[in-house]
Amino acid sequence: MDLIYQKQVTLANGRMMPQLGLGVYKMTNPEETLSAITYALEVGYRAIDTAAIYENEEETGEAIVYSGIPRDQLFITSKVWNTDQGYDETLRAFEKSLKKLKLDYLDLYLTHWPVAGKYQDTYKAIERLYEEKLIRATGVSNHHIHHLEEILARAAVPPMVNQIELHPLLTQVPLRSFCQQHGIQITSWSPLARGRILSDETLVEIGRAHGKTPAQVIIRWHLQNGLLAIPKSVTKERIKENASIADFALTQEEMLRIGALNKNERTGTNPEKYDEA
Ligand code: NDP
Repeated sequence: MDLIYQKQVTLANGRMMPQLGLGVYKMTNPEETLSAITYALEVGYRAIDTAAIYENEEETGEAIVYSGIPRDQLFITSKVWNTDQGYDETLRAFEKSLKKLKLDYLDLYLTHWPVAGKYQDTYKAIERLYEEKLIRATGVSNHHIHHLEEILARAAVPPMVNQIELHPLLTQVPLRSFCQQHGIQITSWSPLARGRILSDETLVEIGRAHGKTPAQVIIRWHLQNGLLAIPKSVTKERIKENASIADFALTQEEMLRIGALNKNERTGTNPEKYDEA
C-alpha cells in the first residue's frame, strides 16, 4: 500500500499547515489543471499552492468545490503579483483572487516577489487581511534576509512563512537559519529543481537503497529538514509518487550527502532581479 504523507507543521500563530502540498505553476491547460488538482485531493493532498499570475485560481476553486472536502481540512495559498503591489492594490488583488477561488478566506497569502519600494506596503496590506480574518496566516515569498529585516522592523504581525527556491542544488543555509531564528517557516519552491537532478547518481543510489525514486528521496529530504515542499506535477502517477513517502526515512548520513550536492545554483529568478520573473 502507498503511504501518503500527511504530517503538518505548526506556524508561529499556532495554525497547522500540511508539510506537503501541490504546486500548480505552469498548469495552463484548464482541463489538465482541474484533473491534476482533483486527483491530488483524491489521493490525500490537502494543500494547494497557486498565485494570481498562474492564471489557474478559477480551476483551483472548481477542484476544491468538486472535491467536497470540508473547507477547514484544506490549506489554500495564493500570492499577489508584482504589478498589483502596494497597499490598496494588494487589497484589491486579494479580493479578485478570493472570488476566483470561490472561497471566503485563504489560509495563506504571500507577497510573490519583493518589488522595490512596494513590498513593505504590500506586507502591511497582508497584515490587514490577517487582522480582518480574511487570511489565516501571513507570509512572503522570495525574500532575502535584508527584505525580511526590513519587514520585521515594522511588522505588528511578523510573516509566518517565506516561500523560496530551495532544493539540493540550492540549499539556502544562511536564509534558513535566519528564518528559524525568527519563527518563519520556509516553503521550498521548485523542490525538485524542476526535474534537473532526477538522474543524479547520489539520489539514484539512495533511492535504490529504499526502493524509492530520486523524486521521493528529494521530497523526503525537504520534509526531514523541517521544510514545506510543494512539488508540481500534472501527471497522475507522479502526483501520487511524490506523496507516497510516509513509509521510509533517510538516515542522517544520507541527509548530509544530499545537502552536499549544493552548488548555490538557481533554476529560477534571483529575487534581486524580480522584474525578470
Ligand atoms: P518542481 O521542482 O516542482 O518541478 C516540476 C517539474 O518536475 C515538472 O516538469 C514535473 O513534470 C516534474 N515532476 C514532478 N514530479 C516528478 C516525478 N516524480 N518524477 C519526474 N518528474 C517529476 O518545480 P516548480 O517550478 O513547478 O515548483 C513547484 C511549485 O513551487 C510551483 O508549482 C509553484 O506552486 C511554486 N513556485 C513558486 C515560485 C515563487 O516565486 N513563489 C516560483 C516557482 C514555483 P509534470 O508536471 O509534467 O509531471
